[in-house]
Amino acid sequence: MSEKYVMAIDQGTTSTRAMIFDHSGNVVSTGQEEHEQIFPRAGWVEHDAQEIWTNTRDVVGRALGRASLQNTDLAAVGITNQRETAVVWDRRTGEPVHNAIVWQDTRTQKICDELAALGGGAERYKDRVGLPLATYFSGPKVRWILDNVEGAREKAEAGHLMFGNTDAWLMWNMTGGPDGGVHVTDVTNASRTMLMNIDSLTWNEEIAAEMGIPMSMLPQIRSSSEEYGRGRARGLLGGVPLAGILGDQQAATFGQACFEVGNAKNTYGTGNFMLINTGTEPVPSKNGLLTTVAYKIGDKDAVYALEGSIAVTGSLIQWLRDNLGIISSAPEVEKLAASVDDNGGAYFVPAFSGLFAPYWRSDARGALVGLTRYVTRAHIARAALEATAFQTREVLDAMNADSGVDLTELKVDGGMVANEALMQFQADILGVPVIRPKVPETTALGAAYAAGIAVGFWSGEQDVVDNWAEDRRWEPAMDADERDRQYRLWKKAVTRTFDWVD
Ligand code: ADP
Repeated sequence: MSEKYVMAIDQGTTSTRAMIFDHSGNVVSTGQEEHEQIFPRAGWVEHDAQEIWTNTRDVVGRALGRASLQNTDLAAVGITNQRETAVVWDRRTGEPVHNAIVWQDTRTQKICDELAALGGGAERYKDRVGLPLATYFSGPKVRWILDNVEGAREKAEAGHLMFGNTDAWLMWNMTGGPDGGVHVTDVTNASRTMLMNIDSLTWNEEIAAEMGIPMSMLPQIRSSSEEYGRGRARGLLGGVPLAGILGDQQAATFGQACFEVGNAKNTYGTGNFMLINTGTEPVPSKNGLLTTVAYKIGDKDAVYALEGSIAVTGSLIQWLRDNLGIISSAPEVEKLAASVDDNGGAYFVPAFSGLFAPYWRSDARGALVGLTRYVTRAHIARAALEATAFQTREVLDAMNADSGVDLTELKVDGGMVANEALMQFQADILGVPVIRPKVPETTALGAAYAAGIAVGFWSGEQDVVDNWAEDRRWEPAMDADERDRQYRLWKKAVTRTFDWVD
């Protein structure tokens, strides 16, 4: 094979990145562009899908240009993406009928309540799709678009509209859009729609009908690692095999080489997402975790995971920056937090989108408690960082309870793991070592591996294991009494957020 590189497109919540990797899994070049976060009302979060597609083309061009590479140097391209975010577009024109509704958006609460009231409550579809009814997932967002955009339902019923998470949106555009674009998604993205049978990996027509979503809108469900199509002739990636799709958290799990049952990783980005590999059978959760697909390589059996999703972690740091203005950049939070010895008694529960795992309380809203005249903005910064670590502890406890074995270490990645004080506090609050890999871009790397394995650039999972290397490890240092005291106060603070929405 003359091609020496694989590209990953990481279509994230805040930005879109293109990264080029060599055979050892090292980053050769990158391009990155943020897109607008649109907040039309409290609880609503949107993205402009056309902006994301434009940015994708820009960052692909930048990544290639910076390394003086072109399409013929690439063996394959993989896509990883923000999951659940719903795009609905017209297959005739390629125009989205509405802004993409982002995973954090809570506008579908009423739709979820109505579906729950049909019987079974929030667990109505759980046995079939592995997920509780929640505003987080795509299906109810599609229903909202069809109900609220003029003419959308008629067009959908006439077969003109397509739905996808941003993976399907990009794949369709990259393979030609209205001129022969392929409308596909992978099992990991499909497992976040509430519309896929978690055991057979096929669409559930009954649930789609109950949500009022025509089957003709849904992409074909494929594995995470196979050739779906090739870059459109006129594009920068003309003729390159598009050969990997993994939802962002599943991609990070793959890139962290979590291939054995019991292997787990935690990603610290806009939100936090911990996944543990549970093997080739889906495992139902009794403790507020999601049953999800981890990956499927070509014709091999799908591998499943339990996932603890936390809606707000890094985005709380953005909120300190953008809404309170107490820092001017995210990394600045480290200095501010380090200027005090502790949180001064303040606990910050960022239930901005309700609470996800392990509570799934859509009635919760954020609370900052324990305030006295003593508390300063530095204590608040510290409490905001600590919130990430406490929420992670709650998810880890749920994982231990569901799996019946205690995790003995945690592999971490994502934008927040640059924060060393947070990583130490995380190890302290968990009581297990926290480990950061040498290549922290595990999300993009995972998508690159999926694509590269499909075309034979890498021979399989063993290459991923061989390329993975540890960078740093934080050992727990806090004494157990202090850990328990702080965690107890955190749990108490969480109860103060419940039952806030009328
Ligand atoms: P995503 O993929 O979800 O867009 P990233 O993995 O790029 O997110 O991480 C970005 C997040 O990390 C932002 O929410 C930002 O606030 C947070 N972040 C970045 N640097 C730091 C830091 N030094 N300390 C704490 N949080 C940080």
